[in-house]
Amino acid sequence: MEIVFSSIDDSAARFRLMGASQPFANALRRAMIGEVPTLAIEDVRIYDNTSALFDEMLGHRLGLIPIRTDLDCYIPQEQCTCEGAGCDRCSVMFTLSVEGPGMVFSRDLIPQDPRAAPAVDSIPIVKLTKDQKVVLEARAVLNSGRVHAKWQPTTTCGFKNYPIVEISERCDACGQCVEECPRGILVVKGGRVTVAEGRLEECSLCRLCERACLNTGIGEEPAIRVRSDDSRFIFVVEGDGSLPVREILQRALLYLKGQSDSLCEKIGEVSGVTGDEEENE
Ligand code: SF4
Ligand code: SF4
Ligand SMILES: [Zn+2]
Repeated sequence: MEIVFSSIDDSAARFRLMGASQPFANALRRAMIGEVPTLAIEDVRIYDNTSALFDEMLGHRLGLIPIRTDLDCYIPQEQCTCEGAGCDRCSVMFTLSVEGPGMVFSRDLIPQDPRAAPAVDSIPIVKLTKDQKVVLEARAVLNSGRVHAKWQPTTTCGFKNYPIVEISERCDACGQCVEECPRGILVVKGGRVTVAEGRLEECSLCRLCERACLNTGIGEEPAIRVRSDDSRFIFVVEGDGSLPVREILQRALLYLKGQSDSLCEKIGEVSGVTGDEEENE
């Protein structure tokens, strides 16, 4: 199995996963979305709220603000020795105190730990008119997207099969498929249709080109065929700012490895064969 990045920075990545099965690609997608923990606001104590939003609505909006998460510093509450009481190993406190007129932004949430600040400063929370006020305390805890979407570290996380475009000798370069293709994948070159340089990965596998070719009266079989490679996948991942995308991918892969190791162990226990014995066989 191999991963080749086309682009990567802290907020987004595009990469090819090669030599893997469709179920594995889907497991990786699900692990990135639902199994990599992040911090999100879970409890809010409201001291004053004379804004137009109900307390519940305000709490909901606060919960959706992505918070920078250092996974080496925080652990999930159920693993913490404080047993859910909340301490600086498993939670971060924030305070917010704003008086109108003006907009309350995510940057107004002041964290007790400066490393755990909101990932984006300018998320609007509520607009206050003159004399309106919001004063509150909030507590963020670590959890995973499987429990609630507010703990998902990704905003986009999907994959598609790698496209394979084959053009047969029967192509007469009429250009109908080029006109039909919504992604500008095809060009007429040297008396035949071919894939434009660097455009193959943009193909959406919609097969409109095949239909256009059939509509030219070429016969029962189109001169262009598009199929998907079942062992190569193109991933696009965007983070919400709580974690760098590279870390999301690394932690998702480690999670899958852990799951696989524990499954092997369980199978070994049931069958009476240890992992070491299996490796020696
Ligand atoms: S499958 Fe769709 S996107 Fe891909 S080359 Fe054909 S028309 Fe273009
Ligand atoms: S529509 Fe068919 S024959 Fe015409 S250029 Fe495309 S592949 Fe060739
Ligand atoms: Zn704790």
